[in-house]
Amino acid sequence: MNVSDSERVASQLEQLGYAITDSEESADIVLLNTCSVREKAEQKLYTRAGQLKHSDGPKKIVGVMGCVAQLEGESLFKKDRGIDFVIGTKAVGRVGDAIVAAVDGEKRFMDLGEREEDYDWLPIKSQRHSPYVAFVPIIEGCNKFCTYCIVPFSRGREKSLPASEVIRHVLELRREGVKEIHLIGQNVNSYRPTTDSGLEKFKGKSQFARLLRAVAATGIERIKFTTSFPRDYNSDITDAINENENLCNWVHLPVQSGSDDVLKAMKRGHTVESYKKKIDDIRSSPRNISLSTDMIVGFPGETEKDFQGTCDLFEYCGYESAYLFKYSPRPGTPAAEMEDDVLPQEKKMRFLELEKIQRRIQQESFARKTGTLLQVLAERKGARDGQLTGHSTCQAVVNFEAGIEKLGSIVDVKITEAKTNTLFGEIQ
Ligand code: SAH
Ligand code: SF4
Repeated sequence: MNVSDSERVASQLEQLGYAITDSEESADIVLLNTCSVREKAEQKLYTRAGQLKHSDGPKKIVGVMGCVAQLEGESLFKKDRGIDFVIGTKAVGRVGDAIVAAVDGEKRFMDLGEREEDYDWLPIKSQRHSPYVAFVPIIEGCNKFCTYCIVPFSRGREKSLPASEVIRHVLELRREGVKEIHLIGQNVNSYRPTTDSGLEKFKGKSQFARLLRAVAATGIERIKFTTSFPRDYNSDITDAINENENLCNWVHLPVQSGSDDVLKAMKRGHTVESYKKKIDDIRSSPRNISLSTDMIVGFPGETEKDFQGTCDLFEYCGYESAYLFKYSPRPGTPAAEMEDDVLPQEKKMRFLELEKIQRRIQQESFARKTGTLLQVLAERKGARDGQLTGHSTCQAVVNFEAGIEKLGSIVDVKITEAKTNTLFGEIQ
């Protein structure tokens, strides 16, 4: 989400005539995009702002955007951190005004306002992270209020983009040579546009399942989507994947814990059993859908037995990748009021144990892929000369020998070797 926000802000600035530079030294203005999902991420902002303040050369204008900007607002101007303006998560469309104000000498410019109706969600080609892969936001915000999570506070309530706009973006990207799009949102399954659905002619048990079929009908080569909320994930989404080759065989389904007590305290709205049923359903697909997840260790009250449940669930689900987090209390969330009673040392041990299990499961899964053919989008040059790298439809990173003329093509690669986190293969 943050990469996508940055691309759109850079697009606006380029359109306003600013030159975007990769080098911090040569920049007159530095915009820091921030994350507040854990305390560590938030601390990074203060470190970076301090470094900028004490860097050599003429003083730069420093702006802060993203979740920390939204949550901390005016307090970012305190302690003389060298921050000139603050722009909230929905105010990014007015970043140009913030810069003009700061250049004109206005101190402490802040905009935490709402998004404008005509906000442009489509980044320009030169500011996208890849010429071949693009993010397409379909819903912003979150209404779930999981007890540990700050996102509903930093990103506000769920708001879906009209389907006609999503389709227009996909078609535009396709025309520009994009091969793979990622439909993104905190909970894509909660997609519920209020106006102009445009989805009437597509079947589906939810608006999201209908949107998937509508996006598939654009003919874009590959479609991925993230993040899915387990409670709202229905088998019709798997059906849509089964019916459409261009809907990729990868589902990211964050579970957060393998204990019913912890899930209840997290207010996730699913149990271990109900989650496993969804996994069984996805697994029964003939498409060989790969699975990934997010998991938190050390949530308040998590016992050794609860943690064991998490380890068992990992074995059951066989995730191909997982983002593991140590619980971090976020001020203002209900969980921050609970006693953070799992000691740091214990959190660390559980994290490392789970990481070990995950690594083994991933290796086993990668080993099963050796000898098989994967369809890989050649996204960029690899680490070694003569090598290209990209993702498979199942979201694995694959390296292979090929000339740069293949960049941007989808190629068949026979997997010959599996290393930690990466596959190697030969183009067929
Ligand atoms: N909307 C997505 C992702 C939200 S944030 C979802 O519901 O899954 C990304 C991940 O950060 C979460 O899935 C969770 O695993 C982690 N996370 C969120 N708040 C956290 C906290 N307070 N401490 C540790 N990890 C957290
Ligand atoms: Fe946070 Fe839960 Fe919303 Fe995901 S679903 S963003 S974890 S509140």
